[in-house]
Amino acid sequence: MLYSINVKAYLIVLSENLRGQCMRFVDIKEELNKETGLRVIDSILNVGLLASIIIDKDTHQILYQNKKSVEYFGDIVGKLCYEVLCTRETPCANCVLPNMTGNVSIYDCYMERINKRVRWMFSDISWFDGKNAVFAKLVELGEEDITSNAKWKYLQDMDQERQETDGLTHIPNNKKFYKNVEDILKNATNEEYAVVLFDIDRFKSINDIYGMTKGDEVLVHIARVLKDSFGFEDNYARMHSDLFAYVVSYEKKGDIIKQIEKLRKKIARNDFDFSINTSFGIYLVDDRQVPVNLMCDRALMAVKTIKGDVLKFCAFFNEQYRADMLKANEIEKDMQNSLANGDFKMYLQPKFRLSDDKMVGAEVLCRWLHPKKGLIPPMDFIPLFEKNGFILKLDEYMWEEACKTLRYWIDKGVEPIPLSVNISRYHIKYNDLEAVFTRLINKYNISSSMLTLELTESLFLDNPEALNRVMSGLQRLGFKLEVDDFGAGFSSLNMIRNITVDTIKMDKDFLDNEIATEKGKIVVNHTIDMAKDLNLQVVAEGVETKEHVEFLKNSRCDVAQGYYFAKPMPLEEFDKLMQ
Ligand code: C2E
Ligand code: CA
Ligand code: CA
Repeated sequence: MLYSINVKAYLIVLSENLRGQCMRFVDIKEELNKETGLRVIDSILNVGLLASIIIDKDTHQILYQNKKSVEYFGDIVGKLCYEVLCTRETPCANCVLPNMTGNVSIYDCYMERINKRVRWMFSDISWFDGKNAVFAKLVELGEEDITSNAKWKYLQDMDQERQETDGLTHIPNNKKFYKNVEDILKNATNEEYAVVLFDIDRFKSINDIYGMTKGDEVLVHIARVLKDSFGFEDNYARMHSDLFAYVVSYEKKGDIIKQIEKLRKKIARNDFDFSINTSFGIYLVDDRQVPVNLMCDRALMAVKTIKGDVLKFCAFFNEQYRADMLKANEIEKDMQNSLANGDFKMYLQPKFRLSDDKMVGAEVLCRWLHPKKGLIPPMDFIPLFEKNGFILKLDEYMWEEACKTLRYWIDKGVEPIPLSVNISRYHIKYNDLEAVFTRLINKYNISSSMLTLELTESLFLDNPEALNRVMSGLQRLGFKLEVDDFGAGFSSLNMIRNITVDTIKMDKDFLDNEIATEKGKIVVNHTIDMAKDLNLQVVAEGVETKEHVEFLKNSRCDVAQGYYFAKPMPLEEFDKLMQ
């Protein structure tokens, strides 16, 4: 009977072992219709004394069982294997089905259901309707009674496994990963190892937009890619939320990157309606004494350094990151107190009208007078505050300082000059600027025209619709709007056609680099002309030299700000200019 099927010669040689039998199914499926094929399979599998079943690999549904298996388990075709074989409600944590990749896999266990120690032998097959299936054959491991000890141990093992397995993806969790990495490093002393962590870019947005269930599916997909790539090795895990980890040996650093590239490709290949991008951080294990959780922290630090950078998908940990993170941590620790204690100071830098050198405004710039570290320039804390969100509080504080100053001048009987404040990009997304500024001008009873809001040029490229909405609202309320750092980006000329602002402030690099050459001078002159023709006021910043001033005076630039005139200074000093 067996040999009447057109099987290849080597299959005949393998006919008595499991691999041969399974491959023969594949052939049967190809050559016979389902009804005849099932009869052939019956005739093969009901000859032996072993229980065999065939399970749908994707749904865990039982597709076929032989007679012996009915003796053990009853009639189970159509039921779910984990329910009827393992008496569980969800697929087993260590389920071999998703891992099957054409190989024979052996799994020994104690089966509560039949009270026997057994060996399951699994093999990948293809079922009639094209389903991926697994052929499972059960061998009893000896007839000895299972002692209650063995049963107890089995239950304990199961429990431990549950504790060390991620409930959603059924791959090891962080606890198991730490243990596994320790073992791997202990046992393989000659090889170099790297701990790699990665997460999904904007995973939160996937959850928000497509729902948690989709989010879960993405995580399961990634776990499957890891299983596919690493098989039964216990070298990978889901650490928590969308963070995954693995440990690998390597010869050259390039090997690690190549492997990452492969994984990213596999992850990106999927049926979701959105793309899944991943960022990887690598810690090369140079000191095996470092606890594994710290190794993971370091790999994670490397991930964080490339977040938001679309051009980078992986980074190696280096000691500098750690120093930077420590510094950032220290700053973060102090920022709240400093804000409460008034350690953030408002500095003012005057702006001068070029036609008559009259002071016509000032920019509000922040300085941190740290109680221990002294004066810290904004470049050392603004980028960090933009990352951790504290910029929202700090900016509002600075805006309030500006309004307070205007009120103070009015109360003193000094004619106030307009102040310009910086608006970080995060306000557009997270703050109701109209409400905040309205509250401030009402509180200090000042006119909105006394405040100019400086918005950096790159913001206009980010999300023009949202920005336009916010800006026109603010303009309606009477605030003046200024594009800061104009010329630093790429689409400046095109941009000023579409935006409704009052002023452009030319970036200092634009001024520095461009007016060094004749051609550059022409570009700047034309830019200024064009802005003027569009009824925009033009301010130049970073004016440092007499040459700068001469050039600007000859062009149609209105206002200049820079060290040539004055550096930013505290209010007490600035007040002297206001006499
Ligand atoms: P920015 O808004 O472009 O501010 C102008 C920067 O150029 C200021 O640096 C100013 O001190 C500096 N500057 C002025 N004149 C000259 C000059 O002639 N030569 C040179 N080389 N530099 C000149 P500062 O105060 O260090 O601020 C740096 C940046 O930090 C600011 O750039 C702004 O983006 C940000 N920043 C400062 N204060 C705040 C704030 O309160 N809120 C927000 N969101 N950002 C702030
Ligand atoms: Ca500015
Ligand atoms: Ca600027």
